[in-house]
Amino acid sequence: AAAVTTNGSHGYVLSPENCDIDVLDNGRTINDFIDIKIKETALGENEEPFLVANLDSMFKRHLRWLNNLPRVKPFYAVKCNNTPAVMQMLRALGTGFDCASKGEIQLALSLGVAPDKIIYAHTTKPRSHIKYACSRGVNMMTFDSEDELLKISQGHPKAKLILRIAVDDSKALLRLSLKFGAQLETVDKLLECAGELGLEVIGVSFHVGSGCTECGAFKQAIADARQVFDIANLMGFQMRLLDIGGGFSGREDFQFSEVINSALEKYFPADFGVQVIAEPGRYYVESAFTLAANVMARRVITVCSPFLIMENKKSPNTGKNSPDKVMMYYLNDGVYGSLSCLINDAKRYPSVVWGPTCDCLDKVTDSYWFPELRVGDWLLVDHMGAYSVSIATDFNGFERANIYSVISSEILQKAFKPKTGSQNWVISCFELSETAGRIPHTV
Ligand code: PLP
Repeated sequence: AAAVTTNGSHGYVLSPENCDIDVLDNGRTINDFIDIKIKETALGENEEPFLVANLDSMFKRHLRWLNNLPRVKPFYAVKCNNTPAVMQMLRALGTGFDCASKGEIQLALSLGVAPDKIIYAHTTKPRSHIKYACSRGVNMMTFDSEDELLKISQGHPKAKLILRIAVDDSKALLRLSLKFGAQLETVDKLLECAGELGLEVIGVSFHVGSGCTECGAFKQAIADARQVFDIANLMGFQMRLLDIGGGFSGREDFQFSEVINSALEKYFPADFGVQVIAEPGRYYVESAFTLAANVMARRVITVCSPFLIMENKKSPNTGKNSPDKVMMYYLNDGVYGSLSCLINDAKRYPSVVWGPTCDCLDKVTDSYWFPELRVGDWLLVDHMGAYSVSIATDFNGFERANIYSVISSEILQKAFKPKTGSQNWVISCFELSETAGRIPHTV
């Protein structure tokens, strides 16, 4: 377990490496923290990119979740960002975890997450991962095909199964129902097959698509889930779990909570006796992370190559279409790193921003108008928590960005308490203190 020890005025430090949590005390802000790190980087002659994870943001979003969706227990989608401090924070806040593989289950268990707080939410699983889940008491898992049922009956016959259904995700950024989920018409047959194999089906799940923009998708999906509940209950299954998946915005407040709450009230009223869970990923982490990337090189292009396609050619300064020069910036982080997915009245130039590798696919953007940057400048990119570090590579030998996790002493003291009778704070023993319940009124 990672020990949190007092460290002079910096408060509590969590080891091992990459799991450190710095406490912002004496009014220090995230921006102060970033400034200090940039200065340290310059002094150490090491201009590596880094990310700062703001655990306060996750804490506040968790409280908003509790206030807005009181009936829905979040099971954080580990795939979105598996930074240990993120996992520790959520574990301390008492969320469950949605794991998609043996590796993610191992990570959650290694941080002390109880097996019954894990849902193996992947409908197409390798046999060995199913067996691993079985051996570790991770029982809840999803399915959407007969073949998967057969594999589960061999590898984890006592599993508690959740039938994932396909839903309308046409208004989402990432359409997951193109790949996963059973059509409603096939549900009877799948349930029959589960019955014949002696398997226990306990619920229904769906995912309205990541970056969902349409609240009607949740409403219809919850109505569809109710239909499946009715069919399964009639067939003798004891249905007791509804999993409404992910798709919640990582930046905005709850746009969908009213619709979700009223659909739950209509189709799954409290006296129906169903536990409702969700699998939010980007909701918790997207706005918590800021990337600091260094401009390690630049080229000023005065004669534009016909191969250089600028998507957004109109100058914000003059409104004209013909720039006199294009700036090419080469960052120390890029598409193969954290940026797989930017300012004021100063004169701006159409700028092409490249990642550090030799690959031409490693282009971060060619449609931004930046004020002129110089080699050695730093770019800060907000909202970098979702699907960034979890898909970063070290392609071409460029190391992944370091992650610094910070929490303010205010939130730390309001929300957590040290293990009783111990000198050191032990993160795995953090508990949400009684005061946390009152925080929604003050944050
Ligand atoms: N659950 C499953 C099964 C997923 O595939 C995903 C994302 O791909 C999520 C949850 C998390 O989705 P989001 O980040 O949109 O909340």
